[in-house]
Amino acid sequence: MENSKQINWAPVLFLTSYHLLLFVLFPLYLYYHSPSTALIITTVILFGLTGISITAGYHRYYAHRCYRTNSGVEAVLLFFATMAAQSSALRWAFEHRIHHAHVDTEEDPYSVQKGFWHAHCLWILNKPAPVEAKVVPDLLKNKLVMFQQNYYKYLMFGTNALTVLFFGWAFNDYFGAFVFIGLLRLFALHHCTWFINSLAHMWGEKPFCQELTAVDNYFLSLLTFGEGYHNYHHTFANDYRNGIHWFHFDPTKWLIWSLNKVGLAHGLKRMDPVTIKKREIIESKNILLEKLTKSCHQKKEELETLVHELSDQIVTKVAQFNQLKAKYIAAKKENPSRDLLKELRLELKSYKKSLKQDWQQWMTIYNNIMEFEPLSA
Ligand SMILES: [Zn+2]
Ligand SMILES: [Zn+2]
Repeated sequence: MENSKQINWAPVLFLTSYHLLLFVLFPLYLYYHSPSTALIITTVILFGLTGISITAGYHRYYAHRCYRTNSGVEAVLLFFATMAAQSSALRWAFEHRIHHAHVDTEEDPYSVQKGFWHAHCLWILNKPAPVEAKVVPDLLKNKLVMFQQNYYKYLMFGTNALTVLFFGWAFNDYFGAFVFIGLLRLFALHHCTWFINSLAHMWGEKPFCQELTAVDNYFLSLLTFGEGYHNYHHTFANDYRNGIHWFHFDPTKWLIWSLNKVGLAHGLKRMDPVTIKKREIIESKNILLEKLTKSCHQKKEELETLVHELSDQIVTKVAQFNQLKAKYIAAKKENPSRDLLKELRLELKSYKKSLKQDWQQWMTIYNNIMEFEPLSA
């Protein structure tokens, strides 16, 4: 732990100098020039490509192994993620796995318990703990990851410098390319990614796990390529999705899904929807019981009993549904009669229907109780 208290000068110099350069050069550029539409569009596209390579590559592929892909896709993800200047894939995934395993404790490298600024960016300025082989054994065997690891500094500066020079030449505006594609893109990208460790552990709702600091926040998902559903993510970290509903803004999930559809990604991991629902019920039951304890509603006791009964009923039904589903899958493998399969399918269908009805009733009760006035002090 003592080591982590020492200053890591390389990121201190890099981060402070590019922030300072941006604050001086950006207003200066706008005073003497106006950026071309092509320069603005290129900056936005590169922001998107470098950002989504961190979330789909470093995060969901390397840190969590939520899907499989080929080395061609890996190389593209690594190229743009290197340009994002957020350290190597090996270090990033190592720190992130430690974050999940020890979230909110002293061992968590970017624990929000040490405050917003520590979780946001100050943690980067501490001397990092050495990468432990037992945490990232899979990545140590990955040739592309190790190539990036061994030449990271050169690759990071090289990809950024060449991109700035190329677009500076293409748009005949080297100053603009440096300020927009180099500095401004990095600034926006870094702070948006850092919000996942700071704001996504502070500001939002906790539908899946109350004990965690991680929260779900739609607004943050807009800034973080879909990583704003952080309470869900910390609860079911191997799911390739962070936003589980179709209306959840999660471009990283859409990218992985699209790669799968064109045959470039396989083995996408998804948490079973019934288990997710079961988790949601248990968490919302705790919220409702706490709300009822603090309310002075006439039917308080009656409602408490109803909350207990209905939640138990749903959880039991979910477990029975899972058992039946397992039985159906096993029966299918054994090649049984069509009638038996049909019977099981019908049974599953009726469970699903009944669960849907219970869920609707639960949501009605939930919304009613949440509107109750609390006990006055
Ligand atoms: Zn987190
Ligand atoms: Zn994660």
